[in-house]
Amino acid sequence: STTEQTAVQYDRDADGIVTLTLDDPTASANTMNELYLESMAAAVQRLYDEQDDVTGVVIASAKKTFFAGGNLKNMVTATKDDAGSVFAMGEAVKAGLRKLEKFPKPVVAAINGAALGGGFEICLATNHRIAVDDDKVLIGLPESTLGLLPGGGGVTRVVRLLGLQQGLMDVLLPGTQFKPSAAKEKGLVDELVATREELVPAAKAWIKANPDESQNPWDKPGYKMPGGNPKSPAIAAFLPAFPALLRKQTKGALYQAPRAILSAAVEGASVDFETASRIESRYLTNLIVNQGSKNMIQAFFFDLQAINAGKLRPQGIEPYKAVKVGVLGAGMMGAGIAYSCARAGMEVVLKDVSAEGAAKGKAYSESLNAKAVSRGKLTEEKSQALLDRITPTADPADLAGCDLVIEAVFEDPALKQQVFAEIAPYVNADALLCSNTSTLPITELATGVDRPADFIGLHFFSPVDKMPLVEIIKGKETSDVALAKAYDVVQQIRKTPIVVNDSRGFYTSRVIGTMVNEGLAMLAEGVHPVSIERAGTQDGYPVGPLQLSDELNMELMAKIGKASKDAVERDGGTYTPHPGEAVVAKMIEIGRPSRLKGAGFYEYVDGKRTGVWSGLAETFPVAAESIPFADIKDRLLFVEAIETAKCFEEGVIESAAAANIGSIMGIGFPALTGGAAQFMTGYENAEGQIGLGAFVARADELAEKYGDRFRPTAYLRDLAASGGSFPA
Ligand code: NAD
Repeated sequence: STTEQTAVQYDRDADGIVTLTLDDPTASANTMNELYLESMAAAVQRLYDEQDDVTGVVIASAKKTFFAGGNLKNMVTATKDDAGSVFAMGEAVKAGLRKLEKFPKPVVAAINGAALGGGFEICLATNHRIAVDDDKVLIGLPESTLGLLPGGGGVTRVVRLLGLQQGLMDVLLPGTQFKPSAAKEKGLVDELVATREELVPAAKAWIKANPDESQNPWDKPGYKMPGGNPKSPAIAAFLPAFPALLRKQTKGALYQAPRAILSAAVEGASVDFETASRIESRYLTNLIVNQGSKNMIQAFFFDLQAINAGKLRPQGIEPYKAVKVGVLGAGMMGAGIAYSCARAGMEVVLKDVSAEGAAKGKAYSESLNAKAVSRGKLTEEKSQALLDRITPTADPADLAGCDLVIEAVFEDPALKQQVFAEIAPYVNADALLCSNTSTLPITELATGVDRPADFIGLHFFSPVDKMPLVEIIKGKETSDVALAKAYDVVQQIRKTPIVVNDSRGFYTSRVIGTMVNEGLAMLAEGVHPVSIERAGTQDGYPVGPLQLSDELNMELMAKIGKASKDAVERDGGTYTPHPGEAVVAKMIEIGRPSRLKGAGFYEYVDGKRTGVWSGLAETFPVAAESIPFADIKDRLLFVEAIETAKCFEEGVIESAAAANIGSIMGIGFPALTGGAAQFMTGYENAEGQIGLGAFVARADELAEKYGDRFRPTAYLRDLAASGGSFPA
């Protein structure tokens, strides 16, 4: 019976050390599937059967990653009715790991690649963890970022390994994915080796040197939890601060996972291991069967993975790697784009009208680097090499040999077309031509260049060095090759691309504009400004709509509004102003348009917010009676969701993954919703009904009370009625 398939190879060497090699023959990565569970159970049983001949165990992997973790596909389909089987399944997996942990010989994890989530939970059940110290290895428990908790023993063991405070703050709540050296610093791994070849020998050497180290600290008599258990005075004093800290971190937004992790950790810390483990399983089961984790898993696992794998990129086009990029305009955006490109290894020619202007743009990279060097994140050498790759200039001839151009001059179509004409004679004949315009339709801009097929929108977000998203905009004439190249460029600079079709405001600006305007409309209606801001942050937005208006700059908003109005009227339509626009006009009139100008809805000193503007109540009187707080919260979310549905309907956006990732990573749509498309398809109302139907019903309610901009269109209504969904 040696021909039976197994995902765990069993090899005993002459010293009696057994190497269990994780190697699923049915997949490219090891996952927690049935075959693995059976194979691992059989391997552990064999260890016990042959115990007298075994001196120790090494857990190794034959795949690129050590172990890829749980099966998220099964998790997202589990409903509340499945709670019993989900719990039982979890307990079965954990019983296997516990049996391995209790094996009376030393067990070592040999971590050759990413060990995250369920993968790292296997490692936590061993007595010693050794990892290869290179950038292919990542270690941690990122479950909280998927709305889950590490329920394969992760909470229970990390709390016992590091203590409540460190375990929660450093590992469990943030869900950080650590590089090997950081993981060692935190105490998650015990030993590092430089190469893969040294890994198993190092594991065997440890076993030989420590033949009796077969018990984890928490299984030894007299074990004391690091930092103390919940009853010890230090922890007891510290515990009450946790929920408050959590609220502060999430600004009151209803992230379920961190709360569950906190509860499982604290409750588990005051009981024995087996009870703690069961408590952990219960909290995980509860998260799995609820909608919140499904929404986050959709966005942060499935959508992100699909986009990273090229989902939105035309197929069959050779990969492209940009070598020399010309950045036109060395202002705020151009300077950031130049830095990101140079950081990714490209040669950058940074052009502005004057040499001084261009040098000022390069100075931005110098200051970012200086900070990184002083923090020990970057060596002097690498910093210098990066800066050497940026050539500031005022001379278009310096763009000779560029295979990529990214334009970021003032938002003026004539100027943009002029700068493209200026560099055209110098750059490569097939250079990709990108504009970072945030509002000008790409198809129109493309009429001004001689190669419209190579012209495309590459919409970065500010600050460029921090923001992870780039919105790629296809013009009517843009070729598939240009789109594929643009996709590759975005990934080359280590950002996430979404792809949209041309439209005024594209996808992201269009959607965020509705949320800001809704906040302003509520202010005009007499909703208390503090309620508006708090509703925003409790929804899970990074900031409320009033603060966002100050940041986005109401003068700019007015300009964009005017351009939309002109465009509608040019096409013979009638423009209906949004109720928020009057508030913008008023704020400009009284000289409080933005943080940039030092005055908006908030007061600023040296660009720093110091408080709400004291004249606010007088300018926008608060109504005697308030609308329900739940409505204030929903109005912000729904207005963005409805606009997203319209973008689908108009073909501006063609993929739910793009809408989800674009809205979360580009414009701060609450991560806990899973993004603007998932918010609709995964919407759960107060009665526990889930889906587009429930969303449409609530939108109709809002439309009755607050205006037709909440009214779902026939497209959305039909989609809901037919049980359909947005294209994936
Ligand atoms: P900015 O005013 O900071 O910079 C524009 C730069 O272009 C200036 O340095 C100016 O000297 C330079 N410039 C003008 N004419 C030029 C020419 N003929 N040749 C070379 N350089 C020239 O503006 P910004 O905020 O960096 O915005 C630039 C573009 O990016 C705009 O299209 C804007 O809509 C877009 N954008 C801005 C943001 C944002 O948050 N600010 C976000 C996304 C996109």
